[in-house]
Amino acid sequence: MSTRIKSIAGLIVVLSAATVAAQQTQVKQTQQPAEPTGYQDTPMQPNGKWHIHDGTRPQPPIVKPGPFAALPTPADAIILLGPGNDLSKWQMQDGGGPVTSWPIADGVLSSGKGFIRTKEDDFTDYQLHVEFATPSQVKGNSQSRGNSGVFLNGVFEIQVLDSYNNITYPDGQASAMYGQYPPMVNASRPPGEWQTYDIFFTSPRFKDGTLEKPAVVTVLHNGALVHNARAFFGPTAHKLNPPYAASNAKGPIGLQDHGNPVRFRNIWIRPLKDGD
Ligand code: MG
Repeated sequence: MSTRIKSIAGLIVVLSAATVAAQQTQVKQTQQPAEPTGYQDTPMQPNGKWHIHDGTRPQPPIVKPGPFAALPTPADAIILLGPGNDLSKWQMQDGGGPVTSWPIADGVLSSGKGFIRTKEDDFTDYQLHVEFATPSQVKGNSQSRGNSGVFLNGVFEIQVLDSYNNITYPDGQASAMYGQYPPMVNASRPPGEWQTYDIFFTSPRFKDGTLEKPAVVTVLHNGALVHNARAFFGPTAHKLNPPYAASNAKGPIGLQDHGNPVRFRNIWIRPLKDGD
């Protein structure tokens, strides 16, 4: 075979490979359509400023948090997830059975099938520490990348998401009060790295079943303040801002299954009491 024919044959092989690759990409895109990064056909939020999950809301500025640093656990903390493989403080949210569908090894719990929650369900005002890591293998976009959530009183979600180079609607990114308020800054670490939430929560107060004071939360994400004593509009929902119910006055701590293997470790809570 002459050099010229060889090079033509080589070109055909390259072009064929490119065609196959393009077709495969097309198939992949068909199977995994891009997730929406915002909505404008949703109701306005109760304060009338933005649609729920509004993609045109400003993206929080990025603040690099630096490397993970472990802090000592206060002596009076209740350890919800410690260094061993003890899940005795947790149950499935639906049905209340033992947690067997979330893999645990060496104190690291990976989100599996079904929501889980603490057995204790009468937490009210508390300090909550959570460490989490979104999958190091990046898959999906927007809400389908590293999604889980920390549920306060079982109903108020602080969003867990891979928000490192991943645009989504601001009220749904990492550390957002989901569907309500974006964090003040995006302090996310890269996928696979351990991150922290330090959450200070005051339950809503009701009198004769009527809301007197809303739930209020302060949150640090990797040490950066992202919510400063901010009030929830009500319990968390997708594309909705439902009103409070008297049952929101207390509840468990919940972790969300959103189909992504997010890891958790070192979760502790300190119920708060007035000193007098
Ligand atoms: Mg979530």
